[in-house]
Amino acid sequence: MSIFVIILLVIAVAAAAFLIWKNRDDFSQKSLEPEPEDIRVPPLLRGINYLLSDKPDRALQEMVHVAKIRSESAEVYMALGEMFRSQGEYGRAVRIHQNLLARPDMPPELHFQAYVSLGRDFQAGGLLDRALKHYAKALAIQPDHLASLTACLRIREQSHEWDEAEWLVSRLEQIENQSYHEHRAYLKAEMAHAAMEQGDLSLCESLAIEAIKLSPSCTHAYLLRIQLLIQEGKAKQASEQAHAFLQQVKPEHHTLLPEVLMKEEAFYRKHGEDFLWDAWQQRHDIEVGVRWIEEVSKAFGKAQGLKLKDKLSLTNLSLRHELRLAALNDAEDNLVQQAKYWRLSMKLYACKHCGVQVHDMRWQCPKCNTWGSMEPLQGSHVFGEEQHVTP
Ligand SMILES: [Zn+2]
Repeated sequence: MSIFVIILLVIAVAAAAFLIWKNRDDFSQKSLEPEPEDIRVPPLLRGINYLLSDKPDRALQEMVHVAKIRSESAEVYMALGEMFRSQGEYGRAVRIHQNLLARPDMPPELHFQAYVSLGRDFQAGGLLDRALKHYAKALAIQPDHLASLTACLRIREQSHEWDEAEWLVSRLEQIENQSYHEHRAYLKAEMAHAAMEQGDLSLCESLAIEAIKLSPSCTHAYLLRIQLLIQEGKAKQASEQAHAFLQQVKPEHHTLLPEVLMKEEAFYRKHGEDFLWDAWQQRHDIEVGVRWIEEVSKAFGKAQGLKLKDKLSLTNLSLRHELRLAALNDAEDNLVQQAKYWRLSMKLYACKHCGVQVHDMRWQCPKCNTWGSMEPLQGSHVFGEEQHVTP
């Protein structure tokens, strides 16, 4: 409660000082004759007292009273709503902002702010439809309000409403006059993925191609296109696309290729295996090698994984890579058992922007919302040193 109370006290003192300054003439001339307006300060102080004694409902009641008496106190009221939201008290924050909107004397600027705040309250409380409704009201007043547009974009992305998300990205592109090509490419790739899940392969293909055109380094779109070509039996084109993948996407994402090349065993045996072997000989990318061994173990059994491990004869491995390989063994010894346990709970990817770590690959960072920023954790540290997001 300490920060909350300190902030509130600062606001209260500032509000009280403002009211006293505003009424300095009244105090000198009519101090014996209290004006009706002087009753403004007591409810505010009473509100603070209630807050200090942990009675937020009574505090709110007093604040409502303050806000009704005087229009400039609406800002105090607004700040109180923000504080309730930051404390996770979404219901109270909503009540405050709704009360503000119900006031007949609200200046238009505060009306707009109250809609934005209600959008944030509902978004924070997980009521996304209601959040969108209030952001829409704010955007009807200020169509280029960046914070509202960005908030709507997060909600659409969270809800996998990719068309609406793309429309919002186009709006942001216009308003900010900067390129969102990478972002749009990842949205198109998500649309392609959804089309694939629904069995609409031609739509999937055209969307994946569109995504690659928007951003030639869009990893997700490449992988979908390779998968699609393999499914359609177009082996030569699939290999060409896999080659383009290694040329175009960032090396940290190369580790995602083996899994896709193994989706169809016939393709893998005939083409994928040789392709990965050539790539291995050219680059000796340890992360790709370890991942290849893991994926072979998963798809075709541990014996084949260990055979590949011997073939690749990896050297100078980090502790992290050693443990991942140890977890593939069946031996009963303690280290192998510990490695298996560790492998199940370890984080594999980290966001290069905000450092958040996750277990499974994600195309959009769950913390900073950047697209394509997740990269495999390599280094020698075995446990993450930074922040974690539970998958
Ligand atoms: Zn991030």
